[in-house]
Amino acid sequence: MDWLNAMLKRWQPKGPDDSRTKKMLIIRQLSVLNDNYIYLVHDPVSGETAAIDPAVAQPVLDVLDKNKWKLTAILNTHHHGDHVGGNLELKQKTGCTITAALSDQHRIPGFDRGVVDGDEITLGQHKIQVISTPGHTSGHVVYHFIDDCALFCGDTLFVMGCGRLFEGTAEQMWLSLQKLKALPVATQIYCAHEYTQTNGRFALTVEPGNRQLQQRMEVINQLREKQLPTVPTTLEQELATNPFFREDSVVLQENLGMANSKPVEIFAKIRSLKDNF
Ligand code: ZN
Ligand code: FE
Repeated sequence: MDWLNAMLKRWQPKGPDDSRTKKMLIIRQLSVLNDNYIYLVHDPVSGETAAIDPAVAQPVLDVLDKNKWKLTAILNTHHHGDHVGGNLELKQKTGCTITAALSDQHRIPGFDRGVVDGDEITLGQHKIQVISTPGHTSGHVVYHFIDDCALFCGDTLFVMGCGRLFEGTAEQMWLSLQKLKALPVATQIYCAHEYTQTNGRFALTVEPGNRQLQQRMEVINQLREKQLPTVPTTLEQELATNPFFREDSVVLQENLGMANSKPVEIFAKIRSLKDNF
């Protein structure tokens, strides 16, 4: 009766798991200020739209207008001006709600809703896992759109780099990066800055023999020559080329003369070398 079951299955109405009804998520990348990226994330089913780290308001308003989208949410990764600068104007003009780390409520303009590590929020039907990543700032969080394989990581992770330690220790940042390292390798990573070329030049100083890194830099240089973004990246690419993800590489350890050091010590060393690069 297997053939019958198979046939019946074929003719069953398609449920929510069917690939044809797979939830779509539209992501728009806005290049603003010197090197910031704002992301607009739109769910066509519910009509909900989120702005992630709106450094400024006008470019966001322009894209909303052009697409006839209504801004329903702002998601901030941290309190720095180049991530929250557009909050108040956007809230005033669209009535959106503003979500950020609960611990940052005193320093997020227009703060409405606080989140903590492990919270699950939504944009329409899309599930968003909140991951707390202290290090760059104490309250930094990242937003992981689980089923969409998309991570909006603010200033925690960059292409071939990571955020500076303004309010956290190397150990905190290292632990934060370990959480991101554990996500699916196919995860698309949307960073808040275009720092790739400098990061890559630094990466080559600590791992000059990394073939993938060398090849990647050739591509990056071509993209930047045409002023094209190098973001998003994937976790898979970062694992292969980002020195802050590669403290377990024996070659890298030897290059630093730290073959017997703890991973977090190697991470701290790379971070301090980069600070002085
Ligand atoms: Zn920042
Ligand atoms: Fe920033």
